[in-house]
Amino acid sequence: MPFIAKTRQGGMRLSIQDYEQVDALGKDDIVCPFCDGTMFIRGGDRTAYRRHFAHRIECGADWLPEEYASGLETAEHLSGKEWLKMNFRHMIADEFVTGTTAEYEIIINVPAYAGVPAHKRITDVMVTFPNGRQIALECQLASITPETLEERTNDYQRAGIDVRWVLGKTADRDQNRRWCDEHFGVCYSFDFSYVSQSAPATRRIATPNDVRHFESEVASYSPV
Ligand SMILES: [Zn+2]
Repeated sequence: MPFIAKTRQGGMRLSIQDYEQVDALGKDDIVCPFCDGTMFIRGGDRTAYRRHFAHRIECGADWLPEEYASGLETAEHLSGKEWLKMNFRHMIADEFVTGTTAEYEIIINVPAYAGVPAHKRITDVMVTFPNGRQIALECQLASITPETLEERTNDYQRAGIDVRWVLGKTADRDQNRRWCDEHFGVCYSFDFSYVSQSAPATRRIATPNDVRHFESEVASYSPV
């Protein structure tokens, strides 16, 4: 959630973009994959929000991050996630091979390491290659420090998963750009400032020696 739910009967995974399948279900047939609470469809059409699943009450899964539990994921974050799923090939550059998939909101089990207890994370978008290799694509818009970026990156790596951060809004700061550039040789950012309807454009920023340099625009967003 909010782009993933499941059927009450049979527990089948549902993506919000499986329009026919989702719209054929009754109003009590869609439930949260984590707490089994009833969900409904919100947003879409002429609203500022991407169409998504929402709880009728708060999520009952107590390990979820606050923005998931409260249903307060922002329109920008929903939009950024959708962009990442639609354009994941931009994010994995020339590594794409036939059969590579991208899916919303996959749960990661992080094993205990170095004093950190075992815990779970939810990826925004998970890219899976046919050989099993995985890359998490993360749209980071809320304020964050390089230390926390590093902690979360370590979590993914302990779970055997690579990660690509796309910074935006208050997370798109020089220190975070520099951290991404030092770790990955590149930094990506979403720019919400000049497009309407909370739809981001993304650009590849920073070359290894100059994080302030805007290298090129990767792509522009086109709504579904
Ligand atoms: Zn829930």
